[in-house]
Amino acid sequence: MIDSGVAAPAPADLDADDPLAPVRELFDLDDDVVYLDGNSLGAPPRAVAERMRHVVREQWGRRLIRAWSEGWWDAPLRVGDRIGRLVGAAPGQVVVGDSTSVNLFKALVGAVRANPGRDEIVVEASTFPTDGYIARSVAELTGHALRPVPPDELAGALSERTAVVLLNHVDYRTGRLLDAAALTEQVHAAGALVVWDLCHSAGVLPVELDALGVDLAVGCTYKFLNGGPGAPAFLYVPHAAQATFSQPLTGWAGHREPFAMEEGYAPAGGVGRGRAGTPDVLSMLALDAALDVWDGVDLRDVRAKGLALTALFRAAVEDLPGIGVLTPADEWRGHQISLRHADARAVVGELVERNVIGDHRPPDVLRFGFAPLYVRYADAQRAAEVLADVLRTR
Ligand SMILES: *Cc1c(COP(=O)(O)O)cnc(C)c1O
Repeated sequence: MIDSGVAAPAPADLDADDPLAPVRELFDLDDDVVYLDGNSLGAPPRAVAERMRHVVREQWGRRLIRAWSEGWWDAPLRVGDRIGRLVGAAPGQVVVGDSTSVNLFKALVGAVRANPGRDEIVVEASTFPTDGYIARSVAELTGHALRPVPPDELAGALSERTAVVLLNHVDYRTGRLLDAAALTEQVHAAGALVVWDLCHSAGVLPVELDALGVDLAVGCTYKFLNGGPGAPAFLYVPHAAQATFSQPLTGWAGHREPFAMEEGYAPAGGVGRGRAGTPDVLSMLALDAALDVWDGVDLRDVRAKGLALTALFRAAVEDLPGIGVLTPADEWRGHQISLRHADARAVVGELVERNVIGDHRPPDVLRFGFAPLYVRYADAQRAAEVLADVLRTR
């Protein structure tokens, strides 16, 4: 930390001054638990349980089949617009449904089809496993080569062969944040398309999809967007690309006239062509309710608090015995701190027993996610203290 001669403010004072403090009250959280795994499964906003009761009892229970035309069928686009606001997408460009894995498949095949005459798919070498697996399958199906490349070597790897590049905005393992503006420009300069995976950045930092001219993006909603376990993912297709976006899962929900029951497939005109089958209504409406906590929240406050929380935690733990820090120290990080310890699994187990919930990624990584909407500065401090104690008493 920089020694300015002024004592750092106490966590309790930081919490007292936190503009996001009232948002925490919207969550159903146990005060005894320090929850630092919101980057894996976000905590439930209080209103979700009541909304689900209404959806099940009133909509499903009383309206029955009529509910499909009273908001259910259009929910993927309506909820998509709410997510769009959080990722810099104007209305009509985000559709919600299916999992991130499935949307990656749609996006990558769509990108390959949109950029013919090229025969290579580039993917980050250390990408989240499902991204790599899906990219490999798309490469096999389309007859492309798959080229894994470390993000720092991207410039040298792009060529006139590159059809599409799949990048993670924030690395799930290290928490490293990539420069979406610079990389999007670099990929475009090579005549390739870019697909951004926003799983670890949607809902924590300002993302400017429209402004950056991103070609396609996907992201999940059960992490920092708190949609609940298995909540449907999202797919971004900008207006300019919609007319030609040709995704491979041509189910009836993406049809221009799904209820005309036509024999042949004709895709919907807008981002709705990103749909495949019947929407997962219960999960989607739980997500819809969960998104209410964002009303009035400024993502710049979320980003500022995320950086402050991670800085506080890092400073308190980086010199502990046996600990290394994997997450970049500068601002090119998301809202997690990843540590290394030879006994990471056991250490995480002891932390969990003491109500500090983080997680472990093999072989030796401890991950701590800081969801600024509900994690307090005092939580970051307590987590650091408990970790120090666990390491001391081992
Ligand atoms: C969490 C995550 C996923 C999850 O994919 P699912 O299909 O929802 O299981 C995919 N990619 C990244 C980068 C993730 O962090």
